[in-house]
Amino acid sequence: MLETQAAYADTAFSNGYEFTQGTGYTLPEYPFVAPPELVSGEVRRYPLVIVGGGIAGLSLACALAHQGVEALLLDEDNTVGVKGAASRGICYAQKTLEIFKRLGVYERIARKGVQWSVGRTFAGEDEVYSFDLRQQQTHSLSVEPPFINIQQFYIEGFLVEQIQALHRSRPCIDIRWSNRITAFEQNEAFATLSLTTPAGDYTLQADHVIDCTGSRSPFRAWCGASVTAKKGDDRWCIADVRFRDAPPVERHTWIEAPFNDNRAVWQHLMADGVWRIDYQMAPNCDPEQVSREDVVRARLNAQFKRELGEDECEIVWVGPYAYRSECLDGLRHGRVFFVGDSAHVVSPFGARGGNSGVQDADNLAWKLAAVLQGRASPGLLDSYSAERHEAAQQNVLVTNRTARFLRPADGAERLFRTAALGLARKHLFARQLVNTGRMSAPNTYSRSAACDKTGGIATQNVIFSWADGQPGELVDLLRWAGGQLLLLVFGALPASAARRLQALAGHSGLRCVQVLAPGQQPQAAEHVIDRQGHLRATCRVAGASASGWALLRPDSYVAATGQRLDTSLVRAVGAAIGLQEENA
Ligand SMILES: Cc1cc2nc3c(=O)[nH]c(=O)nc-3n(C[C@H](O)[C@H](O)[C@H](O)COP(=O)(O)OP(=O)(O)OC[C@H]3O[C@@H](n4cnc5c(N)ncnc54)[C@H](O)[C@@H]3O)c2cc1C
Repeated sequence: MLETQAAYADTAFSNGYEFTQGTGYTLPEYPFVAPPELVSGEVRRYPLVIVGGGIAGLSLACALAHQGVEALLLDEDNTVGVKGAASRGICYAQKTLEIFKRLGVYERIARKGVQWSVGRTFAGEDEVYSFDLRQQQTHSLSVEPPFINIQQFYIEGFLVEQIQALHRSRPCIDIRWSNRITAFEQNEAFATLSLTTPAGDYTLQADHVIDCTGSRSPFRAWCGASVTAKKGDDRWCIADVRFRDAPPVERHTWIEAPFNDNRAVWQHLMADGVWRIDYQMAPNCDPEQVSREDVVRARLNAQFKRELGEDECEIVWVGPYAYRSECLDGLRHGRVFFVGDSAHVVSPFGARGGNSGVQDADNLAWKLAAVLQGRASPGLLDSYSAERHEAAQQNVLVTNRTARFLRPADGAERLFRTAALGLARKHLFARQLVNTGRMSAPNTYSRSAACDKTGGIATQNVIFSWADGQPGELVDLLRWAGGQLLLLVFGALPASAARRLQALAGHSGLRCVQVLAPGQQPQAAEHVIDRQGHLRATCRVAGASASGWALLRPDSYVAATGQRLDTSLVRAVGAAIGLQEENA
């Protein structure tokens, strides 16, 4: 049976967003429109139904809208975020920002949000560790910054508006607010969904259902999906606050904060000058007591070592949290695909929750588009579970390690942490043992049929020059490829290879571009100049001016790389679009 919002509110320390207080956030409200089924009384059939308009469901809908794929998006609520007050996700990683650029919402996010790359970690009064993500190879080539901090609901609002704009120019995504799924079943031929709305109940049928209903997904039970889960006793209380005199724009973390009973504290700036301060609480604390305004103010005063008047520090939102990890054992159950928190839940250390939901959506969108538009075989859809389950397991592993460092068990674990902190204060090598969250980075796919052993890696959004000298970004090339595979062929080619490239350029489902070093002569109609060698580097194609190719998927992952334009490329194309070898 489905739980209701009211039931959530009774649950202390759930993964939800209850116990809000303070001035809160004002969120947009979208109108309810009676669905056509309620007027006609007929049961309609839809090729694609997305359930849940959170960050994952909206990202998926937006990606599909860009490719002109028709889908229905159903959400039980009539707003983004959570009505009244909520700011859950705040940190958005480079890979996600690159996806948002392709979706057309990045510029708004960059304008509204706060960029950061420096993080500092303290224990007691000492700084024990710091990093600058801009200097790390995993982030250094991209045009996008390592991270932008912005309240999750802003991104969701931008996505809604972008979907609406795309829908106006080419009708494709029908968003139905205040439509709640109450029952589901599926058979060999179709899935049946029961819905309740303010104007009455109705039923619809679907070929594919994408479950984006979040961590309380009812589809898990409806599909009999098994889950591997872990729940600890670590407790936190978040305060979103606005200061008159702001601290530096860096991520500060304390593992043992003297002003918080030697427990951990996080401090981060978001949009609108609002700071997220996250305090670790005692495991047995009372959630209502720790979120009371006077108690929150006492904590803030202790941290900033003085009495902060209401004019100096405004409390925007407060909420206690408990974290857990969950991962479905498979992300596809018949006609249902699990995306975002419905598929996996992680603690927020390292910002891997919402980021991985957006990356799930990006992974599934191009595959659905290719299959529904007849460019790939239905088998391609199975690679979604293989790839994103591997990613989810990796994220669970990484965040659980952090959770254990922050709340070590008594005995050996605590001893290890004390030793690591002691050593890190004095020795560089020990700083990597201090784990306050390994920040979200793109996952690698090692067991997917949709990329070979030379692929499965994410590229970064690097720059190059178009043939006419204008600057371009990899995102532009992927857009130009229009949802098809993108073959980048590097360097000058022998005549036979140039002929093969021209023949390949006519292959449906594939766009080909020759990537030249400065001074090289083009041999293909479409060519670009890789002045800095960043395209070659991000595709991991070896040799500064030698030949080589990389096959990129629409989600900017490398499907395969090779040296010669031979049958291995044809096989890679076949695998990437799910065709059998003999058909490729
Ligand atoms: C304190 C905190 C901090 C976090 N910080 C970060 C961070 O910095 N970075 C990050 O990447 N992630 C962060 N996360 C995680 C992030 O918030 C989640 O991973 C993200 O919200 C998941 O998105 P989703 O779209 O999968 O699910 P949700 O956002 O939960 O959306 C689910 C949607 O489904 C709808 N729905 C539910 N049931 C039904 C139904 N029966 N019928 C119709 N509609 C339904 C809901 O109305 C909702 O719109 C944080 C989480 C918390 C709690």
